[in-house]
Amino acid sequence: MALKETKSTCPYCGVGCGVVIESEGEQITGVRGDPDHPANFGRLCTKGSTLHLTATAPITRQARLLHPMRREQRGDTPQRVGWDEALDLAAARFGRVIQEHGPDAVGFYISGQLLTEDYYVFNKLAKGLIATNNVDTNSRLCMSSAVAGYKLTLGADAPPNCYDDVNHAGCIFIVGSNTAWAHPILFRRIEDARAANPQLKIIFCDPRKTDTAEIADLYLPIQPGTDVMLFNGLLHIMLWEGWTAPAYIAAHTSGFDELKATVRDCTPELVAQICGITKEDLFAAAKMFATSPATLSLYCQGLNQSSSGTAKNAALINLHLATGQIGKPGAGPFSLTGQPNAMGGREVGGLANLLSAHRDMANPQHRAEVAALWGVPSVPDKPGKTAVEMFQAAADGEIKALWIACTNPAQSMPDQATVRRALQRAEFIVVQEAFSTTASCDYADLLLPATSWGEKTGTVTNSERRISRVLPAVPAPGGTRHDWAIAVEFAQRLEKQLRPGQPTLFPYPLTDAGAEMIWNEHRESTRGRDLDITGMGYAMLERAPQQWPLREGQSTGKARLYEDGVFPTADGKARFANTVYKPLAEPRESRYPFSLTTGRLRDHWHGMSRTGTLGRLFGHVAEPSIELHPQDMQRRGLVEGDLVHVTSKRGSIVVPAQASNALGLNQAFMAMHWGGEFLSGCSASGERLAGVNALTTSAYCPSSKQPELKHAAVKILKAELPWSLLALAWLPEADALATREQLRQIMGLFPFASCVPFGRERAGVMLRAAAHEAPPDELLQRIEGLMGVGGADALRYADKRKGQRRAMRLVRHGDQAQLEAFVLAGDTSAQAWIRTLLQDELPAQAYGRQLLAPGGQPPLAVRAAGKQICTCFNVSDTAIAHQLSSATGGPEARLASLQAALKCGTNCGSCVPELKRMVRASLPASALPQAA
Ligand code: SF4
Repeated sequence: MALKETKSTCPYCGVGCGVVIESEGEQITGVRGDPDHPANFGRLCTKGSTLHLTATAPITRQARLLHPMRREQRGDTPQRVGWDEALDLAAARFGRVIQEHGPDAVGFYISGQLLTEDYYVFNKLAKGLIATNNVDTNSRLCMSSAVAGYKLTLGADAPPNCYDDVNHAGCIFIVGSNTAWAHPILFRRIEDARAANPQLKIIFCDPRKTDTAEIADLYLPIQPGTDVMLFNGLLHIMLWEGWTAPAYIAAHTSGFDELKATVRDCTPELVAQICGITKEDLFAAAKMFATSPATLSLYCQGLNQSSSGTAKNAALINLHLATGQIGKPGAGPFSLTGQPNAMGGREVGGLANLLSAHRDMANPQHRAEVAALWGVPSVPDKPGKTAVEMFQAAADGEIKALWIACTNPAQSMPDQATVRRALQRAEFIVVQEAFSTTASCDYADLLLPATSWGEKTGTVTNSERRISRVLPAVPAPGGTRHDWAIAVEFAQRLEKQLRPGQPTLFPYPLTDAGAEMIWNEHRESTRGRDLDITGMGYAMLERAPQQWPLREGQSTGKARLYEDGVFPTADGKARFANTVYKPLAEPRESRYPFSLTTGRLRDHWHGMSRTGTLGRLFGHVAEPSIELHPQDMQRRGLVEGDLVHVTSKRGSIVVPAQASNALGLNQAFMAMHWGGEFLSGCSASGERLAGVNALTTSAYCPSSKQPELKHAAVKILKAELPWSLLALAWLPEADALATREQLRQIMGLFPFASCVPFGRERAGVMLRAAAHEAPPDELLQRIEGLMGVGGADALRYADKRKGQRRAMRLVRHGDQAQLEAFVLAGDTSAQAWIRTLLQDELPAQAYGRQLLAPGGQPPLAVRAAGKQICTCFNVSDTAIAHQLSSATGGPEARLASLQAALKCGTNCGSCVPELKRMVRASLPASALPQAA
């Protein structure tokens, strides 16, 4: 069969890398970076470079939702139905709710992973047809503070920069962003810029010393939530030292005097004390920022996911305006979007407070313009419910029908207790999804199967305002349909009830031509607006991605905005925001003495519905944990792996603790990815626990309504769960997903349980659990059965009195016996070596019946391969340490010899910051760079 190549984009982060998808017939066979795409020039990170595996791995294919499914009753197994029946049902149920309770009794919760065309139709469906503004998106959790910050200061929601600015900057200020892990390909570009220009200064500011700190000249470990105080303090010093740009301020801005009065009180002493940094570092940062020929700020969720999110964004933009560090190459406030098409959603106004083409729902003129474009009498003026408000309204019974598309609120929303109450109470829930395994699917009355990466057609916009064409490499599998097409078919049915006899508002054919027709309609809505894209078309985008604005008659878009110093405000001037520092919504206090922050892992994406199917992506971080400062661990008598109760005012979870020097004292970190699908358990009252977002708060920024996912006050206590279980098994590919799904059901029967995949070439699964006492034998037998050690071919040992049992299954590979599966129950002290035998597929026959003997020591030493650092070439920390033990020379020479010997970090580069850290740790003290 002929090999086909299709240019498209990576569906993960906002860098928006171009990909070339290789396919044969209906099968995706490979992926590589698109060398012509201006976001990545051929590079991909670990996530992007494994995309084809997530499309082809049997377990991922098993996880796909391929046909509409209906549940008669919640809790039932959903049954397959036809598309017509499904859409008729959806239209009937939504129609009835609208008729009985009004349009605001329904809500649409959509996603920054939808394409612009999908977004456009959902927005028109809610605001144009149903007449409710209750359409919001998971982008609310991601970048609504950036939107509000730009609009407040610069007058429009338009990131003024481009990625190429890293090559022109004299100073890069990275704040509230673990760019190395969250936007890896942009980080590679920063590494290149530094290599090309050793004079480039990089400041990194974040409570956690993440891998991004590896490139920084100056690291500011501020206390969580103190960013506004930091930025005001920097401005205070700049004013004092005469480092501002009075001519720029006078010519191009307004409102500086009010801000000056505010920052007057932000003295270096006060700022240093509140932010927890030294005055010297504060001064150094102010000098670098203000006196560099060009300063570029890169920022993300650390600023956005905050109850002061808009103020944080605006206070940073204030610095750029005050120093004139905007509107020139290498300078400006550049917000990085978390999701691949958060920008597209903003462009079509797919949020509860926005309208098409950056129009405001609160503006009567804008509402009239959009109504005219859509051909409806009006669009509603009542503010719609934003994400947190929407689920609160559903929990209160106000919203009765919910449509969830391409997102997993039962994992990603804060305050899961409220979200799950909402999902239980809503009368009718539609979940439109590509994967059947997300937690939100459990609550759906109707599941509608959507196309996914490699199958979709449309456009996305990345962080630098660049629109790329998304093209399908393979046909839609099974009965899946494009997200926009599902919304169109639903809308056409609903309008028969709401607008009988009138021409349809959704005249788009359900072919690829329909997507283009939708895009052309969106394009027309931008005419004359700041994001005017009337000069673009699908054909042009297929030749090369383009930045907006690109007006009719123009041939290329605009790389940088505001080069003329004119801003899209009434007087053409940017506005300083008077940003007053406000503490966290929930500061830590004596009852909840830890600051819990959340963030990303290097190799995973959001709720892991896609990346979580691939065992190889669990090589870097194998299982859920909470990280604590080593001294906090010691003070609480905790050792690595001890289980702890982590409790906030909203919920409690149990999770293993892990020491980390990246954190300050009284701080804790958990990855945002660990939802109830991977980390579960039950409270004393039997209520099922729901991953990290059981803890987080829904307190939000009053302007942007973005919740403070970055901080919750928690207490951490050692969990006394003396009975423990560890079970690992290699599974037949065909059974892997079904086994994991059944284990997921079992997880909720233990106070603590986690279940994760592992394995590079094979499908493995690991279940951990802990309890106050041994569970009933039937439950253990069920686990043994699922793990493949329930049969007569398993070796077993049991001591009923002690509540201990072991079961092992070995298989013969040639003349070697290898461990294929095991369950250790009641006594897991032997876990380290037995787990290594299985995961590293080591010969096991020499261990014989010792595998069943109680106790923790192996009869023969077992050498573990170690933790995977380089995913591309499967290089472990052990191999790297061994190689470095004989290395000589300085850091660069050692890194080069390491890469030459092991190839680590020579493909996607995602592990390079970690390699550099390991190289530095290997240097003799005399070779370490001296402090300036
Ligand atoms: Fe995808 Fe990685 Fe590029 Fe982000 S940086 S778009 S995750 S390949």
